[in-house]
Amino acid sequence: MAARLPGVDTVASVRGLTRAFGDRVVLDALDLEIGPGEFIALLGRSGSGKSTLLRALAGLDREVTGELSVTGSVAVAFQEPRLVPWKRVLANITLGLDAPAERAHAALAEVGLTERAQAWPLTLSGGEAQRASLARALVREPGLLLLDEPFSALDALTRITIHQLVVELWARHRPAVLLVTHDVDEALLLADRVLVLDEGRIAHDSPVTAPRPRHRDNPELITLRA
Ligand code: ADP
Ligand code: MG
Repeated sequence: MAARLPGVDTVASVRGLTRAFGDRVVLDALDLEIGPGEFIALLGRSGSGKSTLLRALAGLDREVTGELSVTGSVAVAFQEPRLVPWKRVLANITLGLDAPAERAHAALAEVGLTERAQAWPLTLSGGEAQRASLARALVREPGLLLLDEPFSALDALTRITIHQLVVELWARHRPAVLLVTHDVDEALLLADRVLVLDEGRIAHDSPVTAPRPRHRDNPELITLRA
């Protein structure tokens, strides 16, 4: 279990984070600092340890060693939305939280799913399920929002509308976002900072200075809806 340090103006601070599965060292003394409100894309080839890093940041991995400090709450949205199928959408949003239904309704409204509040998860489209997953993350008021390839199973048009939604939510609530993606264009489009995970470490860490307009700078794109 990683030692927890007090955070110093970061939402997450990681030093020497190490995780092995048998002989395979997946995270090898990894260092990383995430500042409040940053929008970071995390790239890396399949199997490089991106999901392992996210699980550690989310506090879901008790086997990881090193120093890990996370201030505030953390929420995760996965590639598969992982809604509980026998609970209606509304009940899924605040599952495990002691929160009033109004908060779930407000979160559903923010992601444009008000009409689907009483639906069963299995009747949702892929895009709707991802919206529900985002609402479930949002209602936890995260200081750090971890998104593990949330768009990769969506068709191209749905993906664009969900991109816009994520940027809207980020702009309104300003959590730090760590978005895992294998799509370099997506990383450059959405993020302020791009990381590449390789050989168990952050092999590349640079700000994005995109010459083209990005979604967040373009109100017309932001108002587009699925
Ligand atoms: P990524 O998300 O970058 O594709 P992962 O973090 O899922 O990579 O996995 C990194 C490596 O760790 C892979 O080689 C994977 O097989 C291995 N791995 C991940 N989770 C486990 C586990 N629970 N048991 C054994 N090996 C695992
Ligand atoms: Mg993964």
